[in-house]
Amino acid sequence: MKNANRSSRIAGFHKLSVDQRVQAVAQFAQLSEEEQAHLLNTGNLPADMADHLIENVVGTMNIPLGIATNMRIDGVDRLIPMASEESSVVAAVCNAARQCYDNGGFITSMSGTLMIAQIQLVGISDPEHARVQILERKQEIEQLCNECDPILVGIGGGFRDLEVRVLPTASQTMVITHLIVDTRDAMGANAVNTMAETLAPRVAQWTGGQTNLRILSNLADRRLARARCVWRTQDIGGDAVRDGMISAYHFADADPYRAATHNKGIMNGISAVVLATGNDTRAVEAGAHAYAARRGHYGSLTRWEVTAEGNLVGSLELPMAVGLVGGATKLHPTARVALKILGVESAEQLARVIAAVGLAQNFSALKALATTGIQKGHMALHAQNIAMMAGANGEEIDKVARMLVQSGKVRLDLAEKALTELRNG
Ligand code: NAD
Repeated sequence: MKNANRSSRIAGFHKLSVDQRVQAVAQFAQLSEEEQAHLLNTGNLPADMADHLIENVVGTMNIPLGIATNMRIDGVDRLIPMASEESSVVAAVCNAARQCYDNGGFITSMSGTLMIAQIQLVGISDPEHARVQILERKQEIEQLCNECDPILVGIGGGFRDLEVRVLPTASQTMVITHLIVDTRDAMGANAVNTMAETLAPRVAQWTGGQTNLRILSNLADRRLARARCVWRTQDIGGDAVRDGMISAYHFADADPYRAATHNKGIMNGISAVVLATGNDTRAVEAGAHAYAARRGHYGSLTRWEVTAEGNLVGSLELPMAVGLVGGATKLHPTARVALKILGVESAEQLARVIAAVGLAQNFSALKALATTGIQKGHMALHAQNIAMMAGANGEEIDKVARMLVQSGKVRLDLAEKALTELRNG
């Protein structure tokens, strides 16, 4: 095996500077001078900032930032920054939004900004008794939680409610305490984790059990963002298109194999805005998929119906734990600009915008699938990617992509051939 003697045990790697780490990696992977210089060009995220966001930084990973146009949400026109490496995602939102713009666009709402932190209590012989013992302490718990985060309390957030569940598991019956906390404009993971860690020893002391895990739940079902929108049948191509889309939705809601792809499409839009605003894509994705399975069957996150007037109406509801403060939101310079472009004033507004984007994305995917198929729209952009993979630069990219689309075969070997022909005149 090539380089079988290389060791990944690099003592003190985390203590090195970014430059030194790049040198160490270059030695390990035989990176050229050019490849090292590429890593060290961190673009518009300064290396020292990147170095403080995560560990062992050697560079940044640039993802295109696109703007979705035509979005009208709750009567307000907004431009939507979307960070994605996948072609057609931004275009899908623009297209869906164009087709409902004249009918008023999207209406959104939110259930609140409440997060849940869990404390796991084990080693309890009388779990029902322990549950009541914990519930009795609600006032004391409220005080302990709020003392953890005076800033949050100062801006109107903090502890809101207490829930205690008796949970039978494979090993024993556990007692799970839920702290329900309003985290306002923060996603809130750190905020509620601190509260759970502070409270855990008291829970153990009150009940005589042992506390184990203390962490938020990403199934943030007390922080649901909702969006709905009516597309007039005449604006989307007629009754047959509408009915094909409804049938596609029924397929997704009945079949987890289809639902996974259907919801992935929704997350194409959602994760792109979550990422562009410096929020945690994994937290939102985990919450979305868990919510999609809440009925004991993994189904569609969206709902599609026909209104009394015969128009197509879509709705989407999902957990949306995003913030305007905390994490990378305030630190990442591109996230700050993205938030300014969006013009949202609260985490709630951001969450609602994101839900509208998810619904728009699903509209376009369903429409394409139920009519021309996904590849037609996808191919033009995909052809550009293939052209670039074949080595096309500048104007060559569009020229080669056009040649591929016209031939009806978007393949790397044909792109290489087309590029050679183009360069040879
Ligand atoms: P944070 O702790 O950095 O910031 C939140 C704090 O900011 C609040 O506790 C409050 O004290 C203060 N604050 C100031 N102005 C505020 C306002 N207007 N509204 C609310 N709070 C305000 O961040 P966080 O939101 O608690 O945590 C988010 C980070 O945690 C993300 O980076 C996420 O990736 C990470 N994380 C996620 C998980 C998970 O999802 N499972 C687990 C651990 C950490």
